[in-house]
Amino acid sequence: MGSLDELYREIILEHFKSPHHKGSLANANRTGEGMNPLCGDDVQISLLMNGDTIQDIRFDGHGCAISQAAASMMTDAVKGKSVEAVLRLARGFKAVFGVKDDSTNGQKAPPPLTEEEMGDRAALEGVKKFPVRIKCAILSWNTLLETLNK
Ligand code: ZN
Repeated sequence: MGSLDELYREIILEHFKSPHHKGSLANANRTGEGMNPLCGDDVQISLLMNGDTIQDIRFDGHGCAISQAAASMMTDAVKGKSVEAVLRLARGFKAVFGVKDDSTNGQKAPPPLTEEEMGDRAALEGVKKFPVRIKCAILSWNTLLETLNK
């Protein structure tokens, strides 16, 4: 596991140092903000929705490497996707950490994400060993869900 942990750490640091889709969209039609006071992380999301599709996305914010790398990975995962596909990714990702999505209202847990669906985000899986950091990993996903629900 040692080398895999190292690889994962590198992926997280890479996203933290060179985040994808960082900034804000001048033509955003939805924005949202989320905070994780436990760690001092905050994330702002701006979306350009085209009907039911996230045509473009940016995030901004600051905080620990986990929260910012997770936000960068989240933008990669959802850009160009429909809301329905994003909900599945969000639920599946949160399920990795044993966090149920309220919107499922007692429904069965979603089928686990495939390796391809997890992508770089597999690097965050190790966080589940550190319960206080789970909020860091899912902050951007929760913020996205809230923004989509507005
Ligand atoms: Zn954090």
